[in-house]
Amino acid sequence: MNQTYNPYDNVLKVVEDAASILGYTESDIEAIKYPERELKVSIPVRMDDGTTHVFEGYRIQHSTSRGPAKGGIRFHPAVNIDEVRALSAWMTFKCAVVNIPYGGGKGGVVCDPSKLSENEIRAITRRYTAAIAPLIGPEQDIPAPDVGTNAGVMGWMMDTYSMLKGHCIHGVVTGKPIELGGALGRNEATGRGVMFTTKNILSRLNIPVKGTTVAIQGMGNVGSITAKLLDKEGMKVVAVSDVSGAIYNPGGLNIPEILKYLSKDRRNLLENYEEEGMNRISNSELLELDVTVLVPAALENQINSDNADRIRAKVIVEAANGPTTSQADEILEKKGITVVPDILANAGGVVVSYFEWVQNIQSVMWTEEAVNEKLKNIMDPAFEAVWNIADSKHTTLRTGAYLIAVKRVVEAKAARAIWP
Ligand code: NAD
Repeated sequence: MNQTYNPYDNVLKVVEDAASILGYTESDIEAIKYPERELKVSIPVRMDDGTTHVFEGYRIQHSTSRGPAKGGIRFHPAVNIDEVRALSAWMTFKCAVVNIPYGGGKGGVVCDPSKLSENEIRAITRRYTAAIAPLIGPEQDIPAPDVGTNAGVMGWMMDTYSMLKGHCIHGVVTGKPIELGGALGRNEATGRGVMFTTKNILSRLNIPVKGTTVAIQGMGNVGSITAKLLDKEGMKVVAVSDVSGAIYNPGGLNIPEILKYLSKDRRNLLENYEEEGMNRISNSELLELDVTVLVPAALENQINSDNADRIRAKVIVEAANGPTTSQADEILEKKGITVVPDILANAGGVVVSYFEWVQNIQSVMWTEEAVNEKLKNIMDPAFEAVWNIADSKHTTLRTGAYLIAVKRVVEAKAARAIWP
């Protein structure tokens, strides 16, 4: 099963499909098929037990054609160069589809934060930041949180970078603690964007929001906020999961209680959560539930050629990056399942990261209401544009999103021309 899965192949396939519909030649898109820069670093860390362990890390800039590279830092045992490459390219096209002035980048360290102490995580963060410092900066490449990292890690990155440069540089990372220039609303932004997108797609498909059933895979930053906001909107979240497995209640789960339990300790997992009427199921069973909306919010390659045939949801809203493979896309399209692609559905995070960077540069602070409203004002028109182009060209929403994004990236690249 999926032994040869390489997420970067998925990126190339969808870019090439969109380019051919746009009438581009191979030469028009040749340059955007390769990441601009790839840095691999070794990160020696003195562990709590006194031993030295060397971790492997990456920072990749896929494109800076439309602006500085932008994208998160992942701390996860499965991080590898192909994954970081794909994640960096998805950032390029995500920033393009919502039309914010950034290119795409991504970074990662091969480590398991659930098995590390806070001291060890901070040591990894500082040494990693020092190792990638030549590439990053508010005008070059701006990291943010991703799987396994959070505002705290961004605070340490900002401090390390500032110490190396000798002065305080807020704008080097986004998703920081509020005290360090973080944006109000950034923590909830990705999930909020997923909520706006879910409402938009339901409206287009004439499905009522109230009582519509939802299953969410992954209860980290993105999954938990998505669950909270969809529940608040009156949708019925019947299943959620994390790395320890899934819980399912056909009558609807008690989302506020689940969130309270998970937020008590970062090590709390759903396997120890209990509520009346719930059943335990596996993560693969969650994906195959008979629900209206399925929200993958964990990792790549979750819906693939092995299980796509068994997916019963009517709509998939991709909160994670790359949860659906190209082969699965074809199967889902034949089954009539609508997929709202990652580069659109989860763009809320990078949009508010952009707001944070803009505020940092100007040394101003916007209210949370203003941030949420500005986010909606970007997400809703971006959804409409993708829906309309997919409708007029008779393509999937993924191809529609790439039609917009690839065109913007290719045009920016062409306007700059190849240097020298
Ligand atoms: P996170 O580390 O906060 O949470 C990840 C969650 O997934 C955890 O609940 C973990 O237990 C769960 N998980 C891990 N492996 C799993 C598995 N095999 N099955 C089920 N659950 C599993 O990460 P996050 O920031 O919420 O990111 C989740 C996804 O959203 C990633 O694809 C990330 O790239 C994407 N994303 C994140 C942001 C952001 O702002 N954080 C923005 C856009 C996209």
